[in-house]
Amino acid sequence: MTKRMYLVDNYVKDFRSTLIKTETEGLVLKETYFYPEGGGQPGDKGTLFINDQAVKVKNTRIKQGEIIHETDTLDFPVGAEVEGKIDWKYRNILMRSHSAQHVLSRYFQFNYQAETVSTQLKAAKSRIDFQPLGKITPEELEKIANDINMILAKNLPISIKTLPRKEAFSYLREKKYQIKYLEMVPKSIKSIRIISIGEYDFAACAGTHVNNTSEIGKISLISTKNKGKLRERIFYSVS
Ligand SMILES: [Zn+2]
Repeated sequence: MTKRMYLVDNYVKDFRSTLIKTETEGLVLKETYFYPEGGGQPGDKGTLFINDQAVKVKNTRIKQGEIIHETDTLDFPVGAEVEGKIDWKYRNILMRSHSAQHVLSRYFQFNYQAETVSTQLKAAKSRIDFQPLGKITPEELEKIANDINMILAKNLPISIKTLPRKEAFSYLREKKYQIKYLEMVPKSIKSIRIISIGEYDFAACAGTHVNNTSEIGKISLISTKNKGKLRERIFYSVS
């Protein structure tokens, strides 16, 4: 099983590892900093250097518990040394968008009593679905963007910690995180990774994040779309 180093350090762009397996769609490494698609965040792209050959990683995803670096070339010997290089420009904007999503989700929870029901991060434009949430006027959208940018400008530190399941549940409950989805996580998952943003937000998350809200940049709320009964989709970007 690959060691999931992306859970520990979100700033490693280059690393060394070993090829442990080839699957039909790609390569499996002993350890990886490539983020596999999940939780609304796309998988990392980049390059693996194996035996003096540069192999393009088109996507990273989990298949039956295995982290696959999707490549066109598979013909490498197990045990080969690998140097991994993450497409940092792509990953960094996703990290910034992901941290922004947590702030937005919290803002809507506190100010609109709306829950985040789905998220999809993309480099150019991300989206969050909130429920229950009615139509947001353009004026309101502008006010929300201003409020969010004021929170980001506070330079809040973003930190990662992992707690045992039970402890994590009570900690998150106390911090007013909506844990009802978390409770559906299989009992075999014994520890929970928690992302905190200053004292503003606390959430269970396996994604990649920046270290400080100042790195997110400025958020723009682009548009809204009704997705059914009291379900509103909000599109945003970071710049
Ligand atoms: Zn998250």
